[in-house]
Amino acid sequence: MGKSLALYSEKLISTEDILAGHIIVSDGKITDVNRGPIPPSFSGEKINLGDKMVFPGFVDLHIHGAGGYPLTDKPEDVLKLAHFLAGKGTAAFMPTTTSLGLEDLKKQVKAVKKAREEQEKGAGGAKILGVHLEGPFLNVERKGAMVEKYLIEPSLDFFAELEDSARGMPLRLTLAPEKEGATNLIRHAKKRGYIIAGGHTNATYEQMTEGINAGISIANHLFNAMSPLHHREPGVVGAYLTDDRVFCEVIADGIHIHPAVLKLAYRCKGSEKMVLISDAILAAGLPPGSYDFGGKKINIDQKGRSFLDDGTLAGSTALMARGAKTLYEKVGLPLPVISAFASRNPALAIKETTLGDLKPGKEATFTVLDDTFEAVKTIVSGQILKEA
Ligand SMILES: [Zn+2]
Repeated sequence: MGKSLALYSEKLISTEDILAGHIIVSDGKITDVNRGPIPPSFSGEKINLGDKMVFPGFVDLHIHGAGGYPLTDKPEDVLKLAHFLAGKGTAAFMPTTTSLGLEDLKKQVKAVKKAREEQEKGAGGAKILGVHLEGPFLNVERKGAMVEKYLIEPSLDFFAELEDSARGMPLRLTLAPEKEGATNLIRHAKKRGYIIAGGHTNATYEQMTEGINAGISIANHLFNAMSPLHHREPGVVGAYLTDDRVFCEVIADGIHIHPAVLKLAYRCKGSEKMVLISDAILAAGLPPGSYDFGGKKINIDQKGRSFLDDGTLAGSTALMARGAKTLYEKVGLPLPVISAFASRNPALAIKETTLGDLKPGKEATFTVLDDTFEAVKTIVSGQILKEA
């Protein structure tokens, strides 16, 4: 019998409701969730969180770096990022590559894999769920902050090498489905059990629908770096908003997408298919200034906007807890819906069924926030990683 732990809070925020109650944890798993105080007969460690909000641990499927730690070819850097994120309320994440040459990508994928193995041996930090390859099979016309010279045509051989480096861990590929050979690659990747997202794409509505039919199941940062909705050409946005098969990622820093447009997306997709992401870059959590990002200069202004010298938005500096705050304060979403956006849906989008809700049988992974949405504790598989 492993260590047992009980938490009490007036605000246990599941995807269904808000409960004043307790959660019992044993061996890193939730064994009970119930109304009222921790039973006096409970003999393990007791934590009273008062009026702090307890969410199922936030899961970030799209993050390039934070706290000065970009994704590099060093497993130590991935682990530093994992620890930094835990300190900010992100409990699990998929380190995300930007488009690079094959050798550099392979090294980064291997670094993620090694860091993940170190976590299995107790290295701690937010849980590494696998790797997200954002590119390099993306459309130059919608490159956003991607470096153009690395954007290439879909290639099964190129992908096979990355697959090989990632072997044994979940992998997500984001590509532009209108590129020559993309449909083939999507079908191949789906057959191998990988998760496929469409992004940095200039596809027509028909091309995107074909991509979804082939296996795309996630909209990579919906609205950003894709063909917009036009009433005679619905584009990628039109396809994503109207197809119930697709989970839609949104950056909710209040800068990348207007709160009214976040609300619109929610009305189209409902609480089942929206996924909060940070799309954070290494400068997230750092003060304003200029930083290096894959050989490009990134500027952070006083409002926390990150942009290239030509003004293009370059990823966000708002981590998951800040996104949750925007969804609550600016979009007006109820807390259980935010719990679905930030925890359950991202977990389901990558078929990770052990995370994402406050229910017996799930992993004891929690994000605890105060009423300003600052992280006060992050608990991963029953291990407390961040103390107030
Ligand atoms: Zn992107």
